[in-house]
Amino acid sequence: MEFDDSVGLDSSQVSDARGIGGRVALGGGGLGIVGFIVYFVLSQLGGVPASIPLSTDGVGGGQSVSSGDLATECRTGKDANTKPDCARVALINSIQGYWSDQFARSGRTYKQATTTFFSGGVNTGCGSATSDVGPFYCPADGKVYVDLTFFRELQTRFGAQGGTFAEAYVLAHEYGHHVQNLLGTSGKVREGTGPTSDGVRLELQADCYAGVWANHATTTPSSSGKPLIRSISQDDVNRALDVAARIGDDFIQKNLGGGKVDESQFSHGSSAQREQWFLTGINGGNPAECDTFGARNLG
Ligand SMILES: [Zn+2]
Repeated sequence: MEFDDSVGLDSSQVSDARGIGGRVALGGGGLGIVGFIVYFVLSQLGGVPASIPLSTDGVGGGQSVSSGDLATECRTGKDANTKPDCARVALINSIQGYWSDQFARSGRTYKQATTTFFSGGVNTGCGSATSDVGPFYCPADGKVYVDLTFFRELQTRFGAQGGTFAEAYVLAHEYGHHVQNLLGTSGKVREGTGPTSDGVRLELQADCYAGVWANHATTTPSSSGKPLIRSISQDDVNRALDVAARIGDDFIQKNLGGGKVDESQFSHGSSAQREQWFLTGINGGNPAECDTFGARNLG
């Protein structure tokens, strides 16, 4: 994918808390968050540490931007084309730009959500969380939290191909949860696990919303009027689907968990379902087609 070199970035949508010292108090936290992959699965993988070693190297692959420098380092699409952190800022700008326009078209007001980059652990409106949770959205404070080392883990632990658009899918999924929060959908969730649970429907809808943004990514204008994203290739889309396939509940259970597929523990949907709903979003570009709560067959 390619960003337009000349379009300005809005780094105020990202808060960089990497390298901010201090330990995060553990225990009692993490409830109510909407994680990208489920907490218990990750805790099976590596265990949840009793204390968090706050890493000084919190940046996933490639060149890093030191804490607090996003505003000076990430000014235009040109920076996004050359620095991974700036690409993340640009993606968040594009995702929120789309939803802001989409809300306005349907007579609603979109409320911006900040993404916090953190390393190791973080205190949120939903309690404290460690990186083991994976990227997540906290409905209570309306913010997205990402330890960027997750993007490297997607490749090393999950075997994903990675790439900027793989990250775009992850970020757009989390913003899908923000959209659900603004629309009141998150409040519908009763049972969290099981193949047709509300929890799975919520997650698949977030995947679909990610696809909807992707459909509009090259046409969503930035504040300057020009789209921030110039092009998305089939290879980009394939990389997003590759991630979707590797974070499906069945894939994780089979390859990273106990080895057995247990649908009763599904929280995010199978690999095939996650791919399918992302495709529904990207092919149709219509949020109304993301009605996973009304769908009898989730795929
Ligand atoms: Zn999610």
